[in-house]
Amino acid sequence: MKILEKLYLSGSEVIPGEKMSKHTSIEVGGKVKALVIPNSSNSLLRALDILKSSGEDFRIMGLGTNLLVSDDGLDVFVLKMERLSAFEVCGDLLVAESGIALKRLCEIAASFGLSGMEELYGIPGSLGGAIYMNAGAYGKEMKDILEWVELYDDGKIEKFSPRDLEMSYRKTNIGNRIILRAALKLEKNSSEKIYKRMREYLKRRLEKQPIFERSAGSLFKRPKPDFYVGSAIEKLGLKGFSIGGMKISEKHAGFLVNAGDGKFEDALKLIEVVRKKIYESFGENLETEVRIWR
Ligand SMILES: Cc1cc2nc3c(=O)[nH]c(=O)nc-3n(C[C@H](O)[C@H](O)[C@H](O)COP(=O)(O)OP(=O)(O)OC[C@H]3O[C@@H](n4cnc5c(N)ncnc54)[C@H](O)[C@@H]3O)c2cc1C
Repeated sequence: MKILEKLYLSGSEVIPGEKMSKHTSIEVGGKVKALVIPNSSNSLLRALDILKSSGEDFRIMGLGTNLLVSDDGLDVFVLKMERLSAFEVCGDLLVAESGIALKRLCEIAASFGLSGMEELYGIPGSLGGAIYMNAGAYGKEMKDILEWVELYDDGKIEKFSPRDLEMSYRKTNIGNRIILRAALKLEKNSSEKIYKRMREYLKRRLEKQPIFERSAGSLFKRPKPDFYVGSAIEKLGLKGFSIGGMKISEKHAGFLVNAGDGKFEDALKLIEVVRKKIYESFGENLETEVRIWR
């Protein structure tokens, strides 16, 4: 039996030759061998078995909000986790599968009167992507609220604490392991107060970020805590600077946006120009926050 048929029979949606531009928030990325969307964690485990025993390369994606994928496409399968979105509340623990949207999870926490993740409301992407990136906002990071993370590693499933995962600013040691589920440790509070705080953070985000533009979030990591990349880029007069259809956002210079028919290569060139200028002016070496797939 061919691999596509095996994956289909194992309970996943299978889209051969799918373009990644349809699945990334910056709308860039060529074709992959197939996009595989498991319908449950069991279908994910079956798909992983099939891919591993066939020796096929694969990558994992959440909601594609931090990905820049080559327009030439990739000779790999991509597993998209969006349908793994079950959750349960056990006292002050919120346990969820990794494909659930972080925004939805914040809403769920609020409706159960669980506080602690209001600052993260509005970060697009999935719970898995947020853990992988140790995403954060307004002084709160994923590591601050995680109780445990369940990882799949070569057929083994194990739970880890955030300390085991060496989580720090936009960094973890998860590597090629796959996040299946996680538990968030929250605190009881009134839903009304939680919603109020969530709305305040969302408002701040709306004022500062290019929410309605096609972007992949912050282009670069801060090289040190007090170095704000967006402000530095702005000081260099690069706000609005573009190469081809890729542009430094007019609203927030830390964001790269696809302002037209932006290409992967345009984005890479723009990244290099900004890195060079920042190094020349401030002596800082910038590392991209956006994950580059090529
Ligand atoms: C407008 C905008 C605003 C943003 N604001 C913020 C912000 O305030 N703070 C912030 O930190 N980020 C921000 N981001 C970036 C992005 O939303 C986060 O990094 C988000 O957590 C990525 O989640 P995702 O599901 O989209 O991951 P993807 O982009 O799909 O993947 C990112 C990485 O995680 C890995 N991954 C995803 N899921 C899993 C899994 N289940 N198991 C193993 N690996 C996995 C992928 O392989 C990839 O390496 C913003 C992005 C946009 C577009």
